[in-house]
Amino acid sequence: MITCDEFMAELGNYVEGDVVAEVRQRLEFHISHCQTCQVVYDSTLKTVKIVTDSGSFELPEVAAKAIRDKIMARIRKGMAS
Ligand SMILES: [Zn+2]
Repeated sequence: MITCDEFMAELGNYVEGDVVAEVRQRLEFHISHCQTCQVVYDSTLKTVKIVTDSGSFELPEVAAKAIRDKIMARIRKGMAS
C-alpha cells in the first residue's frame, strides 16, 4: 500500500486522469482505505471542477499547472493545521 505522501504526489495527475492504470489502481486502493486522502481527493475534484467549469475549457498547460500548484498548496496548508 502506498503512503499518503505518495498519494498526494500523484493526486494532481490522478484528478486529470493522467496516470497509468497501475498507478490509478494503487491510488484508488489507497482512497478506499484512507479517509484523509478521500476527503482531500473529493475537495480537489470539486475545486478542479469549479475551475474548469468557470473558465475556458482548454487551459494552457502553464495556467493549469499554476492552478494545480495553488490547489495543492491550499490542501497541504489545510492538512498541516
Ligand atoms: Zn492517505
